[in-house]
Amino acid sequence: MSIPTAESHTRISRYGMVNSFIVKEEDGLTVIDTALKGTGKKILAEAKALGRPIVRIVLTHAHGDHIGALDELHAAVPDAEVLISSRDAILLAGDKTLQEGESGKLKGSYPGAKTKPTRTIEGGERVGSLDVIATPGHTPGHLAFLDTRDRTLYCGDVFSTLFGVYTTARANPLFPLPTMATWNKELELESAIELRTHEPSALAPGHGPVNIDALEQMDDAIAKSAEIAAKS
Ligand SMILES: [Zn+2]
Repeated sequence: MSIPTAESHTRISRYGMVNSFIVKEEDGLTVIDTALKGTGKKILAEAKALGRPIVRIVLTHAHGDHIGALDELHAAVPDAEVLISSRDAILLAGDKTLQEGESGKLKGSYPGAKTKPTRTIEGGERVGSLDVIATPGHTPGHLAFLDTRDRTLYCGDVFSTLFGVYTTARANPLFPLPTMATWNKELELESAIELRTHEPSALAPGHGPVNIDALEQMDDAIAKSAEIAAKS
């Protein structure tokens, strides 16, 4: 099912829970995250309906529910750029060793992919209309993307909106999975606070519907996560 949510993008959802987004750009389409294995056909069908080529695949992070359809999609559009942070590119390649300065334990599934990034990207760069924002915590190299045209924020797994807006530093009792997959909750909370400062007009997460006017809900989610962090 594809759900048009704004002029600038189309949401492709698996089970209403796992999202991929197609962002319309002047030079073609940018796919943000590929969702679960088997989602490639839906993404390609939606791109066909939009009548423009997929020129880029950008990944917020290397968890299996975000890179699941990367190989099948890349096989269909081999000339598209494939972009991910240099840190999560290591995870995408199947290497789960912690890097210098990192501690704790990586969580969630990192199945890796055959597809290699054509280039790695970092916070502060621009990809088409998207500002790249470093948001480590859920994974060490997590990235978010802010569309500078309408301020839609593709926040990956920094926030989830299924059954309410939550950071992934604090588990939503109705949908705890993204939080269970968070590597470093302190960093994740800092990244959530950083994203709020960008004043997004809409929150487009990896899991759940796109929330328009989500600033108050983001504030609430951050405050509740901070309370938990203070207690622990
Ligand atoms: Zn994740």
